[in-house]
Amino acid sequence: MTAPATRSLRIGVFGGAFDPPHLGHVALAKAAIAELSLDRLLVIPTGHAWHKARALSPAEHRLAMATLAFAGIPEVQVDARETRRIGASYTVDTLRELHAENSGAALHLLIGEDQARALHTWHESEALPALAIICVAARADSTGAKGQFDALSAEIPGLTVLHMPPMAVSATEIRQRVASGESIAPLVFEPVARYIDQHLLYRPH
Ligand code: ATP
Repeated sequence: MTAPATRSLRIGVFGGAFDPPHLGHVALAKAAIAELSLDRLLVIPTGHAWHKARALSPAEHRLAMATLAFAGIPEVQVDARETRRIGASYTVDTLRELHAENSGAALHLLIGEDQARALHTWHESEALPALAIICVAARADSTGAKGQFDALSAEIPGLTVLHMPPMAVSATEIRQRVASGESIAPLVFEPVARYIDQHLLYRPH
């Protein structure tokens, strides 16, 4: 008798500042779970984001908002590991930890197009494709040229393109809207908007 074929656990890894998490993040998560048949998706807010010029909101707020934003997706677990790290936080370390914790799992690293283009600047970027399948989603502010991922595919071995329709939303726009008193209702889930309001986030000082 042959043993039944076992399929390795498929785990998505979605890092970001999530300052705040918005509907573009949620759309990417849903598309990835469906297209990649993910068993689990770890949403991992960054700790000290070495590549972001501005200071991020405190991790407790970003974790709380991520929990609210992804609450409707059962596969998602919000994972605080990077916010607990002292010093710079690198994706390569997170992927190595996850392999140690989930032997044989197929890790899928989810990134938007802007981050895919900057991937070569990440710490130990050349090690990433061996640790995870890198999956990219288009962003609406891109040139939209046909074959826009051709050059990236040549640079990033195994690059997988997600087919979600691009969504024109960014955390930058949300922070700017809050600072200028405009509504953010179309860009975030209502519980996240309420959290931002209650905790006076992104208000001008
Ligand atoms: P900011 O405007 O502050 O730079 P952001 O909206 O890009 O923030 P991040 O938390 O930095 O949000 O993004 C986390 C990940 O989600 C990144 O890989 C980013 O490319 C991706 N992402 C963010 N918004 C979108 C979107 N609208 N469509 C596809 N991917 C997105």
